[in-house]
Amino acid sequence: MLLTLTNTQPPATDLGFLLHKHPDRAQRYSLSFGAAHVFYPEAGEARCTACLLVDVDPVELVRGKSRAGGGLLDQYVNDRPYAASSFLSVAIGQVFSTALTGRCAARPELAAQPLPLTAHLPVTPARGDEDLVPALFEPLGYEVEIARLPLDKRFLDWGDSPYVSLTLSATITVKDLLSHLYVLLPVLDNAKHYWVGQDELEKLLRHGADWLAHHPDKGRITRRYLRHKWSLAREALARLEIVEDDSSETAPDEADSAGDAVAAPDLTSITAEEVAVEAPLSLNEARIQTVMAELAAAGVETVVDLGCGDGKLLSRLIKERRFTRLVGLDVSARALEIAADRLRLDRLPPRLRERIQLWHGGLTYRDARIEGFDAATVIEVIEHLDENRLATFERVLFQCARPRLVIVTTPNVEYNVNYEFLPAGRLRHPDHRFEWTRAEFASWGQRVAAAFGYAVRFVPVGEVDATVGAPTQMAVFVRSEGSPSAPPPQPSPTRGEGGGA
Ligand code: SAH
Repeated sequence: MLLTLTNTQPPATDLGFLLHKHPDRAQRYSLSFGAAHVFYPEAGEARCTACLLVDVDPVELVRGKSRAGGGLLDQYVNDRPYAASSFLSVAIGQVFSTALTGRCAARPELAAQPLPLTAHLPVTPARGDEDLVPALFEPLGYEVEIARLPLDKRFLDWGDSPYVSLTLSATITVKDLLSHLYVLLPVLDNAKHYWVGQDELEKLLRHGADWLAHHPDKGRITRRYLRHKWSLAREALARLEIVEDDSSETAPDEADSAGDAVAAPDLTSITAEEVAVEAPLSLNEARIQTVMAELAAAGVETVVDLGCGDGKLLSRLIKERRFTRLVGLDVSARALEIAADRLRLDRLPPRLRERIQLWHGGLTYRDARIEGFDAATVIEVIEHLDENRLATFERVLFQCARPRLVIVTTPNVEYNVNYEFLPAGRLRHPDHRFEWTRAEFASWGQRVAAAFGYAVRFVPVGEVDATVGAPTQMAVFVRSEGSPSAPPPQPSPTRGEGGGA
């Protein structure tokens, strides 16, 4: 079976850095079920294509230990050597393991950069519903080309086979493209060559961390990926729910985008008193309202939302006249696309459009663009940063950008005991690098405040449990009177610095 990946952004051979495979060499990797080969049929400045060829030994599959039993794998003649399937996912996971984590040691900035990429799979099983292939890939931003492959017509007209030739094109990072294929190839095939247990659930959540919670077909993906094991699928969906919290909070936006006309934004304000009476709320809604009340109480006019994700907070802030300038910044280009859709940026009336911008960027590099705002919000983001990058993030925000108000929220890990479906000791989201207790968050906040000339207070968000506290914890940092408001000219964190303020 074959997968080709093509980059057309010059210098196109950057693909070699991203895949950690040199374009001048053909390499072979041994796998438990055969071998994988990586080579580049073209490697030019304008266009570069990498091929992953996976050679499955069908006889060994039937005879050997890797036999999972049942169906096609009982027969020597089967489609596994040529049809994209879980074998190809395993090969992607092994051969491109570093690329799949989004790391690129030689060129770290490259890994986060969306590129015009095309993936081609000449034989992809697409069993089941006719709409399956576009339904899986189009919401992720791909242009999808499908050609049904006919069965051999020499003797009889059998009609079309359950296989398609599939071409996916998008401007996307290599990591995202590989993680989409990794998860969705076995979903298309609706089969797996190995036992599906708890590990598979963790894999799904890890590789789907950046996108599955927002995917409109996440139910079908989860069920098919987990081979219709209902208890696993239920746990996966429940855990995706805490990522998304509760879809109810997106309902008003979806409702008002249903009409073609651009509805006049609702310019009502939310006050702290309203927050108090509007319980019970979804946790996400509680967070948004608490943050908005803090911003209003501090008389803030300009806000940068760091790690804005799909723009849930911004879509609420834009409705408030008091905010004259709003910026969302995120490292995920896909999240920014979803945010642009949610905010309907291309259809906003000019007086609103000029107040808001979305920027692609990271939080662990100094970025002069985020200086000069009244406030910065960092909502459910720090737990996505590696702990050894936190010190750099602290300097980027508190030393260089220095807004007069900083609001940071993060999960309170003590509360996790209340999530029945979350196995003990497991974090709420596979991409979380850590989750802190209230004491850990308080000690971090106090240290940061003291180091950079801020006062800090802590506010629980969501329903407070008498023993373990609230599900979300918030720190509100206010720059101290007399503390400098301008960023210092030096020193500044530089690219590649590993923390250590
Ligand atoms: N603030 C949003 C999203 C939270 S999810 C909300 O409350 O809904 C965490 C977000 O942080 C993701 O969108 C992720 O892409 C972003 N993120 C993670 N690491 C980042 C980094 N180093 N720089 C910028 N954004 C980052």
